[in-house]
Amino acid sequence: MKEVQKLFPSMDGNDFQREEILSYFRTILTKIDELKDPNKLTLGEMPEYTEDYYNRVIQKADVPKTGVSMEEVIQKLLKLVEGHRYVNRNYVANAAPLPNIASVIGNLVMVLVNGNNLWDVEGPAAATAEIEVTSMLSKLIGYDENISAGYTTWGGQGAVFNSLRLAIARYAPSSNRNGVPQNLYCFCSELSHYSLYKSVEATGIGVENMIRVKVNADHSMNLEDLKEKMEHVIAKGGVPLYVLATMGTTDTFGVDDIEGIKRIAEDLEGTHYIYPIYIHADSAMGGMYTFFNNYDFESNPLQFEDNVNEVLKSYQQKFKHIKLADSMVFDFHKLGQTPYITSLFLIKNKELLKYVDIDAAETPYVGNRGYGSYHTGYTLECSRMGSALSIYASLLAFGIEGYQELLANYIHVNIAFREKLIKEVSNVVITNEVSPITTFRFYPEKTKWNEELNGLLTIEEMTEINQFNDEFAEIIGVERDTVFFGNTKKQRLVKVTNSNKRISVYAHKFFAISPYTTIEEVDRYVGFLKEHLEFFLRTRSSKNILIRS
Ligand SMILES: *Cc1c(COP(=O)(O)O)cnc(C)c1O
Repeated sequence: MKEVQKLFPSMDGNDFQREEILSYFRTILTKIDELKDPNKLTLGEMPEYTEDYYNRVIQKADVPKTGVSMEEVIQKLLKLVEGHRYVNRNYVANAAPLPNIASVIGNLVMVLVNGNNLWDVEGPAAATAEIEVTSMLSKLIGYDENISAGYTTWGGQGAVFNSLRLAIARYAPSSNRNGVPQNLYCFCSELSHYSLYKSVEATGIGVENMIRVKVNADHSMNLEDLKEKMEHVIAKGGVPLYVLATMGTTDTFGVDDIEGIKRIAEDLEGTHYIYPIYIHADSAMGGMYTFFNNYDFESNPLQFEDNVNEVLKSYQQKFKHIKLADSMVFDFHKLGQTPYITSLFLIKNKELLKYVDIDAAETPYVGNRGYGSYHTGYTLECSRMGSALSIYASLLAFGIEGYQELLANYIHVNIAFREKLIKEVSNVVITNEVSPITTFRFYPEKTKWNEELNGLLTIEEMTEINQFNDEFAEIIGVERDTVFFGNTKKQRLVKVTNSNKRISVYAHKFFAISPYTTIEEVDRYVGFLKEHLEFFLRTRSSKNILIRS
């Protein structure tokens, strides 16, 4: 037993055992640092991902009969890290965070005391942190912190699921017993995240009852189409239950007009005497921009450039209305730069939780004692990690202004990237508005973006250009160790001349997410694209000649 005890932190806080743990931490930090290379995306060399790679892993795996030394454990872990993508200046693909130091420490504290966020008696640190960040962020977005509630959950997707569950339970309180009514409908933009798709599947509402609404040129939901589709549902005896307002689409950062959505919902409620329609702001991507809700653009205390200011000001106009939503989410593990998973689901009115809270009789071993007053019986998780501690630490370390600088830099870099790309490459178009993301599309010869947007091309022509971009994505993907760009196969849908079906537009993605992605780096990003594009065009045309001859 003495040997097994050695595998644990000390009971009395003695120096010797602390030094031992510290030495392990030091080794890990040092070894990972040794693998870092600012000119590469990966930590050390990538393993050979041959076709049988995972198969070999499966064959080799066995629990050792006797435990190995801690040195060997560390060595094995570091082996796994080799070739890992590391979010540095070469990573411009997706919203992947480089966890900031405060959040790493918050996470460490969470693990060391290992509270269970289910119940304050079992996890007082996380409980208080959760209540505190819920209040901090409620105040920031304009929810009344005395009425709101919040808890950390399984991602932005979890927030969508939780919000749909609240919407169903509010509309049909007996559904917990009798099942979900059959005539409920949900609405979302056709560019919204697939979270709602999964949630209507899992709640039993069914995908057929999820109505996709068209988008405007700026990738926000088209409100006329929303209204029409809601009225159609009402006319057929259905219940418009829920609208997902995307605040920052995953690929293009389109921001829905939540004020307009709320107005339409209220109009319909008034005209048709229907039950209030639940609105969830899916702000997994964009929610951090609420940090500018009170920024004074006139005095501009952080001295952002005019063109950056302009974008942030337009966000302020949109994000200040997020308080109209019944719930929203902060995905700190996206633009907030904290470890997975750090998502805070915020609910405007905590009254709603009574519909989903579990009956006291069903929870015999936690909550409802003379001690402890915070028991999250309404979450879908039972045991919960205390990830509010990471969020809390980040909010303290950055403050509002720290986050404003980080978030403004994403915009600053994107503006510079756009300008440079257009200047250096002739056959490219930028296909979304200025945001932390730039989507762009190449053409074999001259650009045809206007024709595409106006539905003047055939399916075949569109497919050829998509193919061109797809092949190019493969080519630069091979060299992702130098710069890792993202791409998407559904940037938007456009009409074509020879079909009723709309066709997806493929695009490449530049996502300025690392704090090390600064404007000094922009020339290198564009240079990489230009060089590979020229190579691609050359090899492509020589291939074509070969085929023809
Ligand atoms: C990323 C994203 C999600 C999913 O969030 P996870 O934290 O990955 O679960 C949902 N909605 C939008 C708009 C997103 O960008």
